[in-house]
Amino acid sequence: MESLRKRILEEGRALSKSVLKVDSFLNHAVDPKLMYEMGTYFKEYFKEHNITKVFTIESSGIAPSVMTAMQMNLPMVTLKKQTSKILNGEVYQTTVHSFTKNSDYELTLSKKYINEDDNILIIDDFLANGEAALGAARLIEEAGAKVSGIGIVIEKSFQPGRKLLEDKGYDVYSLARIARLDEGIIEFI
Ligand code: 5GP
Repeated sequence: MESLRKRILEEGRALSKSVLKVDSFLNHAVDPKLMYEMGTYFKEYFKEHNITKVFTIESSGIAPSVMTAMQMNLPMVTLKKQTSKILNGEVYQTTVHSFTKNSDYELTLSKKYINEDDNILIIDDFLANGEAALGAARLIEEAGAKVSGIGIVIEKSFQPGRKLLEDKGYDVYSLARIARLDEGIIEFI
């Protein structure tokens, strides 16, 4: 997605060899027009996948996924990050390691919002080690539903996430793929 690559080059800041900050349009301030355009790309790529719901992980995945769900005319569900386990039979939970915070959280999905006939599209803002997407996939599969695709806004292709997801058979589509980061350097594939 050319307009996204342009924004990343103009406004993104590589904090290190592994972390990119894009607070001015995705992670803090949000550019709704850019999010809408992301939705058109995800809709086009996943239109033949018989998607029934769009899932995302709070909080930066919400803006691109709500735009995608709106354009695909589908419901959207946000997987919540809880600090501790909820001990009742009403939720699915799985432990996920946060790349940016270097700590664990309990990714949580209410059983009300999924059923075994669902074909789910997972959307997230970044793909690094694949922990968040794999956690979302575990919850979906525990519910007996299917992961029908994974849409990523910014993939850091030098990290192992894409390979892990593809090895599990998931169809991963990213709008921008970064080959290398370093202080002041952002290179695309
Ligand atoms: P993963 O679970 O694939 O290791 O990391 C993906 C999650 O960590 C995303 O949901 C995103 O919130 C966060 N993340 C990973 N790398 C970056 C990054 O370079 N910049 C920002 N802003 N978030 C990141």
